[in-house]
Amino acid sequence: MKFNNKNYDYLIVGAGPYGSVFAYEAAKRGKRSLIIERRATIGGNMATHKEHGINIHDFGAHIFHTDNKEVWEYINQFTEFNGYINQVVADYKGERYNLPFNMNTFYQMWGVKTPEEAQAKIDEQRDIGNVSGAPKNLEEQAISLIGKDIYLKLIKGYTEKQWGRNAVDLPSFIIRRLPVRFTYDNNYFNHRYQGVPVDGYTSIFEKMYETDLIDLQLETDFFEHKDEYLNEFSKIIYTGMIDQFFDYKFGELEYRSVRFESETFKSNNQQGSAVINYTDSETPFTRIMEWKHFDKKGDDGYTILTKEYPQDWDRTREAYYPVNDKKNTDLFKKYKKEAIKFGNVIFGGRLGSYQYYDMDQVIGSALKAVKKEFRE
Ligand code: FAD
Repeated sequence: MKFNNKNYDYLIVGAGPYGSVFAYEAAKRGKRSLIIERRATIGGNMATHKEHGINIHDFGAHIFHTDNKEVWEYINQFTEFNGYINQVVADYKGERYNLPFNMNTFYQMWGVKTPEEAQAKIDEQRDIGNVSGAPKNLEEQAISLIGKDIYLKLIKGYTEKQWGRNAVDLPSFIIRRLPVRFTYDNNYFNHRYQGVPVDGYTSIFEKMYETDLIDLQLETDFFEHKDEYLNEFSKIIYTGMIDQFFDYKFGELEYRSVRFESETFKSNNQQGSAVINYTDSETPFTRIMEWKHFDKKGDDGYTILTKEYPQDWDRTREAYYPVNDKKNTDLFKKYKKEAIKFGNVIFGGRLGSYQYYDMDQVIGSALKAVKKEFRE
């Protein structure tokens, strides 16, 4: 079987934002690409679909937020954003708190009303006497930054579920800083631009592919014909797992996975918030999304909720989050060295560069790769 029958300039592995931006930009420069995608959907983890008129995010809640004006203007050529501002509620054993940590949280936690009172309370809580020297693990780090109450109620259980390990066994670097705000402001992000596309994220990718210079093959795994692809295409953009590309020859990189469970309710409003985080350790899921609240759209009388359960990763599961601890970072460096030898393959995106990227960062890095490729 011939794969490059149309003399494509690029084979792009993965129809996520990195691969799609690259294909779109290459097309603008007159270059032809074939995108192959393992899944039946486009947009990678940004994929969305509609049910009962509600935009559902297939792979967890995606809120676009950035300070990068160039990336914001770039993405806005494909979609309009709805001005959604992320405001997250935390549930700890039935007690409700606003996130991120701000004056509302401090009032709910301690009844303090002024920034000065809140600061004094945090200082008192951090000074618990049993943390000496540099924090040795995540627990010590979190307590030294924000104090015991907030750590125990809002950080410990959530983080342990997310990473599948006890906080005392997690490295302190996972929490370098904790955003603390001494204003009554529940906006989850500090970024200047924020929102969710009015027609869902998948519409962005449909727009990108509206050109004869991009062909798309869904449900096609690169590894089914890796050698043929490498032989036939002079340039490949690879956004899959870097360790898999090299047949795990130095060992497996570690990832965290998640699974989603959705349910439709005959109601207009089930939880009153787009996202509620469950921060205790007994509840097995980390958060529940109610999609309707992301863009206030949807058929009357229906609402859809999705629970997000973190889980261990193995080769049968989707790799969502790279585990960037020292062991994995060192291992990644070995693969990266190997990747440099493959001059005709660009490794990019979240899995290709083993980096947790937000959407704006991945788009920014794809645009950078395009400039490098076209020597601009
Ligand atoms: P992906 O989107 O993962 O795309 C890679 C594609 O390659 C996938 O479609 C995959 O199926 C395909 N592929 C892999 N291997 C092969 C193969 N062998 N053959 C063919 N195809 C293959 N970012 C934000 O900015 N805001 C958020 O709120 C946010 N929330 C998130 C929530 C969750 C649960 C997760 C997991 C991520 C979130 N992100 C968020 C991050 C965002 O999803 C990523 O930045 C973005 O999707 C990365 O793009 P990518 O192109 O690198 O990878």
